[in-house]
Amino acid sequence: MERVTVPTIELNDGNSIPQLGFGVFRVEPVETERIVSDALEVGYRHIDTAAVYGNEEGVGRAIAASGIPREELFITTKLWNADQGAESAPSAIDASLERLGLDHVDLYLIHWPRPDRDLYVETWRAMEQMKADGKTRSIGVSNFTVDHLQRVIDESDTVPAVNQVELHPAFSQSALRTFARQQGIHIESWGPLGQGKYDLFGMPAVAEAAEAHGVSPAQVVIRWHLQNGLIVFPKTNSRDRMAQNFDVFGFELSDDEVNAIDRLDEGKRVGADPEVDFF
Ligand code: NAD
Repeated sequence: MERVTVPTIELNDGNSIPQLGFGVFRVEPVETERIVSDALEVGYRHIDTAAVYGNEEGVGRAIAASGIPREELFITTKLWNADQGAESAPSAIDASLERLGLDHVDLYLIHWPRPDRDLYVETWRAMEQMKADGKTRSIGVSNFTVDHLQRVIDESDTVPAVNQVELHPAFSQSALRTFARQQGIHIESWGPLGQGKYDLFGMPAVAEAAEAHGVSPAQVVIRWHLQNGLIVFPKTNSRDRMAQNFDVFGFELSDDEVNAIDRLDEGKRVGADPEVDFF
C-alpha cells in the first residue's frame, strides 16, 4: 500500500511541519515505546511530547528502533515550567535531547507562560539562542494568550513559529486565531477531540457529517481541524484508532459542514486556563 502523504505547513522561519501528528500526553512511560512504534508503523512522522510527560525516553527508543531517517521525522518537545529562566532553560533542552537520544528536535515550546513568574520573555530569549545553536530547528510557545504573544513579539527578535493551545469545536479560540494569522504564527490544537470530556461525537453537526461521509465522528473532527488550517496530533493508545485518525485524506467536509461545526463554539475549556491555573 502506498504511504499516505500528510500535508505540510510552512512555518514563519521557513521550516515545514506535517499538519497531522501523534500526541503522547498521558501515555505511560512503560508503554510509550510500543505505542509510538505503532504510530510510526501506521505512518505518523510527527510526534508531540514534553519533558513533563515523562515519556521522552520511550519516544526516543521508538525512533531509534524504527530506522526511519531522522530528516523524515518531526519531533516536538516542551520546556517544563520549573525550568523557565535564562539559567535553567539551556540545560533543560540538553536533558530532553539526551532522553530522546537526538542531537536536535524540530520544535521546542515553552509549555505554559506562567505569567505569575514573569520569566517567559527571558526564557524566549534563551530559546532564540537554542535555535541559533542548532538544538532545535524551530521555536514556539504553548498556552500563550494574545497578551503573552504580544509581549514576546515586542521584546524579542523572533515571532514564535507556533502557539499550541487547547482547541476543539466547543473551544475554538477565534480571537487568538485571528491574531496569530495576522502575526504569521501557526496554531496547533491540543485536546483536538475535547479529550473525550464532553459528547462532541454525539453533536448533530459532527454525527451527521460522519454519517454522510461514512467515517467516524473522530475523523470528522480531525478533518475540521485540518480544513481550518490547524496543526493537530490526536492521542490514542489503540492502534486501530491511530490508523483511523490517520485515514483522513480520502474525504473532504463541505463548507456547510465546516461552518456547522464552527458554530459549536461555546468558549468551553476542558483543560487548564493559562491565566489562572498555575502548576
Ligand atoms: P485528545 O483530544 O487527542 O483526546 C484524546 C482522547 O480521545 C483519548 O481518550 C482517546 O481515547 C480518544 N480518542 C482518540 N482517537 C479516538 C477515536 N478515533 N475515536 C474515539 N476516541 C478517540 O486529547 P489530548 O491527548 O489531550 O491532546 C492531543 C495531544 O495534544 C496530546 O497528546 C499532547 O501531545 C498535546 N497536549 C498539549 C498540551 C499543552 O499544554 N501543550 C495539553 C494537552 C495535550
